[in-house]
Amino acid sequence: MRIALAAGDGIGPEIMAATLRLLEAAGVTKHLEFVPVEMGATVFAAGNTRGMTDEAVRTVEDCGILFKGPMETPKGGGGKSINVTARKIWSAYANYRHFRTLPGVKTPFSHLDLDFAIVRENVEDTYGGIEHRMSDDAMCGKRIITAPGSDEVIRFTFETARRMGITSVHCGHKANIMKMTDGLFLERFKAIGAEYPEVALGDVIVDALCMNLVMKPQQYRMVVLTNLQGDIVSDLAAGLVGGLGFAPSAHIGSTISLFAAVHGTAPDLAGKGLANPTALVLSGLMMLRHLGLVRHAATIENALLAALESGAHTGDFGDRSMPTLGTADFIKAIIDRLGQEPRTVKPASAPAGTDAVTHRRPARPAEPVVMHTFNGLRKEIAGVDLYLDGRLPAKETAASLERLCEGSPFRLLLLSCRGTQVWPRGSAFTECVDYWRARFELRDGAAAAQEDAIRLLGKVAADHVVSEYQLLRTFDGARGWSLAQGQ
Ligand code: NAD
Repeated sequence: MRIALAAGDGIGPEIMAATLRLLEAAGVTKHLEFVPVEMGATVFAAGNTRGMTDEAVRTVEDCGILFKGPMETPKGGGGKSINVTARKIWSAYANYRHFRTLPGVKTPFSHLDLDFAIVRENVEDTYGGIEHRMSDDAMCGKRIITAPGSDEVIRFTFETARRMGITSVHCGHKANIMKMTDGLFLERFKAIGAEYPEVALGDVIVDALCMNLVMKPQQYRMVVLTNLQGDIVSDLAAGLVGGLGFAPSAHIGSTISLFAAVHGTAPDLAGKGLANPTALVLSGLMMLRHLGLVRHAATIENALLAALESGAHTGDFGDRSMPTLGTADFIKAIIDRLGQEPRTVKPASAPAGTDAVTHRRPARPAEPVVMHTFNGLRKEIAGVDLYLDGRLPAKETAASLERLCEGSPFRLLLLSCRGTQVWPRGSAFTECVDYWRARFELRDGAAAAQEDAIRLLGKVAADHVVSEYQLLRTFDGARGWSLAQGQ
């Protein structure tokens, strides 16, 4: 099986070389061929704003698996984070991160035997990066949550739980505030979870989840979250078990999956041979298990645990009374223990037999796939929201809009600012900015097509700057928009 390999920048090449030495010593390389690809700082420096050559993209798409070291994100200029680009263009929709208490890694929580996973949706949410300036003073970002996107990551979570014998899965969310977006994610969690009767479902509001993870982390085995909340919660979880130096991560997609440590390029350590390769080794173990090389993964994991237990450590952690090892000696300490098991913690186990790569990469799609969860809903226009860039106060704006919508099937229902109704009802204490939402609803007995809404937009645009237009529709009779605060 061919694996695309990008060593990365900074400490990347050192920790990748050390990790490959360990994989080779464990006999993994007879199953895998690593194909180097060009990604990262040198590609950005050559003016390629994607940070990966066309050849690298082709190789990753042919292999279906990328094992990568940390990569520098260029500051300023057009270059975007290669990590975000990679997981988005290849739809690696589930970021799976496993957290466990490791011997020899002292934290305020080391007395607890922690073993849990966070699954973060990896493509949608604010990571769409769809942001606009709406007025002099207002910036706006779109938070997109879709049913099929939620279904993919939630199904991955339950399938992983089933495979690993995990009987409790939680959904972290903020559906009490983001009733439509997080509400959908939670609804899909419950719908898909019902297909896994052996798994107990729980849901927890994300702020409470953060507190619970610090107060009583043992209560969680697996938590699935939307992208941004999952990003924050998974770093909090990494802190419980020793920080990013011990935080592996898998980005799993239907066709292409990426395996990488969570930490960055550690420019302060680069070239010194001092970096801790543990997170990359643990990410490599996730890759081996994904490919079906479960026995090799268990052997290497046990050697790593035995080495940590013996006090082997790099400069960023461990017992200071024991000598600090450089990257190469730390890996040697693991290689020397291949075949051993840890004594103080539960060893990793795998079914008896011989390993073989069971992973098969599905065929390349002819074109981007369009996914659906709901089909054939009856959609009817009920109104329109127009967002205005303007400095007039609410009363004057409303008077002008009421005049402009005369003769259309719509009437002005309310004005809101930053989501709070300020006209016709509202509080004089509500502070406003130069970015208004005018909500129009159908007049009694009227019906409207999209053209009527666009015609209204045209009339309003004669006197106001409309920075966004949003149809209000019902879907099988259910309201497809949120109410304004105070509506
Ligand atoms: P960083 O993770 O590189 O470093 C933060 C701190 O952790 C530093 O003190 C560093 O020495 C230490 N550290 C990190 N990894 C270590 C390891 N394996 N062993 C020992 N110590 C380690 O974060 P940063 O300084 O914010 O970012 C540096 C660069 O890395 C930036 O260009 C950033 O964009 C990039 N970055 C890349 C990734 C990735 O590729 N996944 C992730 C985060 C940051």
